[in-house]
Amino acid sequence: MELIFSAPATPVVPVIGSTALFPVHRIYCVGRNYAEHSKEMGGTGREAPFFFMKPADAADAVPNGTVGQMPYPSKTSNLHHEVELVVAIGKGGANISVQDAQQHIWGYAVGLDMTRRDLQAQSKEQGRPWCTAKGFDHSAPIGPIVPAAAMNDLQSASIKLTVNGDVRQQSQLSKMTWNIHEIISELSQFYALQPGDLIFTGTPEGVGAVQKGDILEAEIDGLGQLTIAIS
Ligand code: MN
Repeated sequence: MELIFSAPATPVVPVIGSTALFPVHRIYCVGRNYAEHSKEMGGTGREAPFFFMKPADAADAVPNGTVGQMPYPSKTSNLHHEVELVVAIGKGGANISVQDAQQHIWGYAVGLDMTRRDLQAQSKEQGRPWCTAKGFDHSAPIGPIVPAAAMNDLQSASIKLTVNGDVRQQSQLSKMTWNIHEIISELSQFYALQPGDLIFTGTPEGVGAVQKGDILEAEIDGLGQLTIAIS
């Protein structure tokens, strides 16, 4: 078989402390998975999370100890940060039970679900899809993946985002409405999960706008830091 042009490179995310790379298959995201963020977006705070996607090549991996560059996207004047725990799937499956979910997790990372908030608001108003608001190029900066085997107590970890040194988002992973096992179980009822899938698990309260020149530092205990500059 001859390809009519070279197949695009598979997006990859480095594995911490290793030369290994995690190949990205798909990117799923959970909406409104922290009650206080749900409220700031106009929800009741306790509704069931829902899912949306970004293209795999929206993942911009930022190697440990480096500063990633995110170009300020076109067609928006309200680019928002959302710091999130990312779950990296190593073993696929459909209809995964909550009890079995852990064995499908290969690792974890810190990620940013960057959002054109103005386009998202328009989409909501008009009942249209969120793709241009959420799934644009460079919209998913992600730090190195930490193998699940190397992590113990993620449940009590704190999650934080600063912009130019000012704390904008600060919470605990324990405040998720649905925990990561419940998310995997629910998502796997809609899609057969595959090795290489990434799941952005939702953001806590404090989302807000960033400008060109801003430095974003995202952090989760045990997973290190993800730093990007908006250029
Ligand atoms: Mn999000």
